[in-house]
Amino acid sequence: MYLVFRCDCGRAMYAKEGTARKKCVCGKNLKVKERRILVKTETAEEASEMVRKFQEEKYGGAVFTTADKI
Ligand SMILES: [Zn+2]
Repeated sequence: MYLVFRCDCGRAMYAKEGTARKKCVCGKNLKVKERRILVKTETAEEASEMVRKFQEEKYGGAVFTTADKI
């Protein structure tokens, strides 16, 4: 399983379940267990897809909300 979560800086990222720490691009070293998990996925591909969606949700909300109406 892969865990998708967000850094305090707002960036979404994922880590394989069991990973203790994950470093964000902002330089913060996150303890995965202490993060609120947004979603869990089976594969790394799905996890990276979810990260992309969460990034769009934050930075381009309109695009994200219309995507499921197609
Ligand atoms: Zn960060």
